[in-house]
Amino acid sequence: MALGLPSVLPGSQPSIGDLIRDGAPTFSFEFFPPKTPEGEVQLWRAIRELESLQPSFVSITYGAGGTTRDTTVAVTERVATETTLLPMAHLTAVNHSVAELRNVIGRLAGAGIRNILAVRGDPPGNPGGEWVRHPAGVDYAEDLVRIIRESGDFCVGVAAFPYKHPRSPDIASDTDYFIQKCRAGADFAITQMFFDGDDYLRLRDRVAAAGCDTPILPGVMPVTRMSTIARSEQLSGAPFPPALAEQFARVADDPEAVRKLGIEQASEMCRRLLDEGVPGIHFITLNRSTATREVWQHLRADARV
Ligand code: FAD
Repeated sequence: MALGLPSVLPGSQPSIGDLIRDGAPTFSFEFFPPKTPEGEVQLWRAIRELESLQPSFVSITYGAGGTTRDTTVAVTERVATETTLLPMAHLTAVNHSVAELRNVIGRLAGAGIRNILAVRGDPPGNPGGEWVRHPAGVDYAEDLVRIIRESGDFCVGVAAFPYKHPRSPDIASDTDYFIQKCRAGADFAITQMFFDGDDYLRLRDRVAAAGCDTPILPGVMPVTRMSTIARSEQLSGAPFPPALAEQFARVADDPEAVRKLGIEQASEMCRRLLDEGVPGIHFITLNRSTATREVWQHLRADARV
């Protein structure tokens, strides 16, 4: 353990890596830290409504540019102390020196948080802009994984990209660096959102073919409005599946039909992924409970959860 950091007590929170490897598929929900009092009310309403589904864990993102450092720590701690849920904090390297990163990790440890998703983050203001490392910081998620590992008995997750990361020149180097990041000490990975199960399966196959057995949870976000499609293209750097885009285009003027199609498509993709033996499903909720709950109910109706 690195000097000066509180250690996570053995026997405290379960390791998500163990949960994923040990049993039935995990189900998890992702939230983001609120920026306004109204947003806080909405977040806690969603958390309370989804708590009854007894997910395996929930995760709290880290705002662009490290802007939500305090809120991410505070929300994660509150989930740990005031709910029955197992929380995971995301952490990024943006705008942080190594000393600041160690400080945040120490605060998470002090709050009893054992699970951290280590992501590099994007340049604030322009996610596609040039990455500028903090003068006393790190360049890649791999470095962050190592820092967290050295800091105590943490379970560490990392990000994976079915279509390759938008900055990666090609699939081969993307796969190599992903595996390098896993070997630096990641217990599991979660993918960027995608809308065609084959894209996830291709990622899983190429990682396995390269000899890496780190479990990869698919990240799923149902389309609930047409703007989700553009957002997904921006985040993934890949076109939305054209055949599916056509289906959405046909109902684009009817918000309720868009939402219905989005829930059906996400449910169908989750069914397929579960049949393909995925280790779990990670739902991106955008701090709203309804769409995730509906997909979950479809899966429950088929006895898939
Ligand atoms: P890295 O693994 O560091 O990769 C970044 C790029 O560098 C890739 O192209 C990679 O191939 C390349 N690379 C990696 N290692 C090397 C090396 N040694 N040498 C050369 N090239 C290398 N962002 C937030 O701001 N907050 C969040 O909470 C957040 N949560 C996320 C959760 C998930 C599940 C996902 C999928 C993404 C999340 N992101 C979040 C977005 C993420 O920060 C960005 O996608 C970021 O651009 C990449 O992060 P990474 O951890 O994959 O970076």
